[in-house]
Amino acid sequence: MPKARETVLEIDLKALKHNYEYIKSKLKSNTKILAVVKAFAYGSDANEIANYLQNLEVDYFAVAYLSEGVALRDAGIKTPILVLHPQAINFKTLIERCLEPSLYNAKILNEFITIASKEKQSNYPVHIKFNTGLNRLGFGENEVDYVVSKASETSAIKVKSIFSHLAASEDLTEKAFTERQIKTFKSISEKFSNAIGYKPILHLANTSGILNYPEAHLDMVRTGIGLYGYGNSEKENEHLIPIATLKSVISQIHIIKKGETVGYNRAYKSDGLIKTATIPIGHADGIGRQYGNKKGFVTINGKKALIIGNVCMDMIMIDITDIDCHEGDEVIIFGNHPNASQFARTANTISYEIITAISQRVKRLII
Ligand code: PLP
Repeated sequence: MPKARETVLEIDLKALKHNYEYIKSKLKSNTKILAVVKAFAYGSDANEIANYLQNLEVDYFAVAYLSEGVALRDAGIKTPILVLHPQAINFKTLIERCLEPSLYNAKILNEFITIASKEKQSNYPVHIKFNTGLNRLGFGENEVDYVVSKASETSAIKVKSIFSHLAASEDLTEKAFTERQIKTFKSISEKFSNAIGYKPILHLANTSGILNYPEAHLDMVRTGIGLYGYGNSEKENEHLIPIATLKSVISQIHIIKKGETVGYNRAYKSDGLIKTATIPIGHADGIGRQYGNKKGFVTINGKKALIIGNVCMDMIMIDITDIDCHEGDEVIIFGNHPNASQFARTANTISYEIITAISQRVKRLII
């Protein structure tokens, strides 16, 4: 692996393949896999990731918004793409780009039927989302008949799948709640299939759902974080490999005397002679101010160096007093050791937030 000479996010496609195959090994052979590639494939590189997974014959992709789906189509992705949170204003483009909407309430269902009919579509694939306890998006359990009657009175759309989302599949103290969600979804699915006269694809489980609730696998699973190498606990992480390593380099080393301060607002005051290094990564790159003042750390030659003072827009300063290192040396922010979960924990957050926050200004390097 080449040493970093600037700030880069290295993306390891072999690790992605490993994670994909690990998740697949947990499923029955006929269970489909939907890869969640929203938010630039959780900050990695949506086009590269989708292209790689398309070659592995993944069944579906999901993005949050239209623009993300359009970018994938522009990059030549042909695999079906579910848009989880479409806006009615974009429905014409959504149809033109063969993107498939999640429809989650009467208003958006009716708006989509109107546009699909106007665009002379027939059997346009749509995905109906039901709310089973997350209370974020979705039709209520009592709206099955309404959706079926709306979908049956038009030939413009066809319900390709029905789905729901688990609220706490990572939290085994909430097992009873998750089991109730699974049961509710199964009952909605049965009622829906009977009323509409065929069985749409049923999907419910996210990564933690896949790992903790085999009974929630159904016809398809939707995995995001697992593909990128993380679960939601040490146990879930065990067999997954982080695909992204955030690296940088030492720009300058300073000797700081007792009483001197480092960085904006003079937030760090030295109580002795110390050595600091300045690293070209800051809050504009996704390392937020919450990592400053000795919360976050980086790793140099296997040794931990605390971030001192406030995080600047483009730089951080770290304490390297006890580390033998030089200007130009490589710095690891997260990767395998520490991984993004461990790094995120220092600022009381989770891997999802830190990996999706790495801004587009950081070069992605596919290895
Ligand atoms: N399904 C939906 C509707 C989601 O919003 C997400 C992610 O937020 C996922 C699946 C994937 O979840 P995870 O990344 O935990 O696998």
